[in-house]
Amino acid sequence: MKKNLQFYLKKAIKQHFAIGAFNFFNLESLQAINKASIETKSPIIIAVSESSLDYMGDEFVVSLAQICKKSNPHIFLHLDHGSNFKVCKKAIDLGFDSVMFDGSLLPFEENIKQTKKVVSYAHKRGVLVEGEVGKILGTEDNVLSKETIYTTPQAAYEFVKRTQVDMLAVSIGTAHGINKHSKTSKLRFDLLTKIEKVLPNFPLVLHGASTINIKLVNECNKYGGKIENFSGIEENQIIKAIKEHNIVKINTDTDIRLAFTSKLRKFLTQHPEDIDVRKMLIEGKREATETVKYKIEKIFDSKNKK
Ligand SMILES: [Zn+2]
Repeated sequence: MKKNLQFYLKKAIKQHFAIGAFNFFNLESLQAINKASIETKSPIIIAVSESSLDYMGDEFVVSLAQICKKSNPHIFLHLDHGSNFKVCKKAIDLGFDSVMFDGSLLPFEENIKQTKKVVSYAHKRGVLVEGEVGKILGTEDNVLSKETIYTTPQAAYEFVKRTQVDMLAVSIGTAHGINKHSKTSKLRFDLLTKIEKVLPNFPLVLHGASTINIKLVNECNKYGGKIENFSGIEENQIIKAIKEHNIVKINTDTDIRLAFTSKLRKFLTQHPEDIDVRKMLIEGKREATETVKYKIEKIFDSKNKK
C-alpha cells in the first residue's frame, strides 16, 4: 500500500498515536519541523494557513515542501483553515496532500454545502479533506470565534455522512491562541466518547491544543516580552485523547511561535551589537526543533511510526 496520508491516518487509528500537524511560516520554521520529523522517524503534516501562504508565496511553499519530501517522503503538505472554496481549490491545484475547509462559522446546512463542494473537487484529485463542526474558541488566521460551541455527536455524524470528509475537527474544549482558558475548562471526553460511538474508527482532529511551555513564556518576558494571559492544554489530557480515543491529528502553531520568539528576544537582548540575522534565527530554529521533537516523543507517540 502506498504510504500516503490516508495510510498514516489508518495506522494512527489502529496504533493510537497522533500525527502532528505543525504550522510553518518561513524557511527556518519549516527546516526546524522537518529536522524533528527526520530525527524521530515520525510521519508529519506541515501546515500552512492562508496568511502564511500569502506571506511566503504559493510557489515558495510548494517548492520548499517538495524539497523536504525528497529526503523525507513521510511529510505531508496541508492547508490549515481554508476559509472558502477558492483557496482550497488553489491548494489542491498546487498539489497539497490535504486541505481543511473551515465552515464552522457558517450555518450548519451552508457548512455542509460548501464542504461537499470542496470534497468533490479534492477527492477527484486524490486530496484529503478535513471539515469542522462546532466552534473552537479563539483566533486562527482569518477565523475568529468568540465562543465555544461543542461538537454534538448528532451534528458530527450527519456532517461526515453527508460531506464524506476524511477527517473531522471537533470542538471539545481546546482553544486557539496563547490563552486556552484551560484553568477553568477540561476536555469533554464524554462528548468525544459519544462522537466515536456514532463514527467508529473515524479520524478526529484537535485544534488549539498547544501546551504552552511556561519556561519559554518566562524567557520571553525576561527579555522584553509582555505575555500576560496564557494557559495551555494539559499534556495528560492530550495523551488521553490519543491513547483512549480517536484523535489522530493534532495541530500545533502557538507552541512553535513561542519557541521562536523566546530565543529571538534572548539573542537580540544579549547581543545588541550583532546584525547577523542568521545567528538570531538559528537560535529560534533550534528551540522549534526541540519543541516539535518533544511533542512527537512525549505526547503524540509518533516516533518510529514511518
Ligand atoms: Zn486551528
